[in-house]
Amino acid sequence: MKNDEAQQLRVFWEAKGNPPYDHPTIEKERFEEGGHTGFYVYTTCGAYIGPAGE
Ligand SMILES: [Zn+2]
Repeated sequence: MKNDEAQQLRVFWEAKGNPPYDHPTIEKERFEEGGHTGFYVYTTCGAYIGPAGE
């Protein structure tokens, strides 16, 4: 998932009031050019996983 997509998901999810849900799927967060940012994000809400996230 591109980092700007993850950002959009976070804004979208926040606007919905961060409703609870399962976090079944994660993806590498990638830069526009395709490189790995070093982070992983949830594909549903865009939240970072681990120390930077939930
Ligand atoms: Zn989440």
